Amino acid sequence: MNQIFENYDEAHKYSLTIPWKIELCNTGETCWCRVIVPSEPIKFKEKISNWIKEDITRDFDCIIPDGSVDKETAEYIVDLHNRSVHLYKSQKKRLEALQKLSDLDQELGLS
Ligand SMILES: [Zn+2]
Repeated sequence: MNQIFENYDEAHKYSLTIPWKIELCNTGETCWCRVIVPSEPIKFKEKISNWIKEDITRDFDCIIPDGSVDKETAEYIVDLHNRSVHLYKSQKKRLEALQKLSDLDQELGLS
């Protein structure tokens, strides 16, 4: 999705609904920590100050920054999060299918 969110909060809220992935910090592979980022780029507008009209566009690029969680915990968190995102999406599709069936029943006078 290439939309630009109106503010940080909206970008943050959206970041919770998409899968995440793990990246290395600046130290690289040998470091104990891992960074957790959204699986797709997320951008949001930010006001620079009250007297500058134009907003700047910033990247919402980090769920959990470097130096916060170790590799194993990062993998665990990302796995858990991604499972729940997928579960939510498939659950939503099921509910939509059920709704369609019930609409159809009503159309056919079966309910
Ligand atoms: Zn690190």
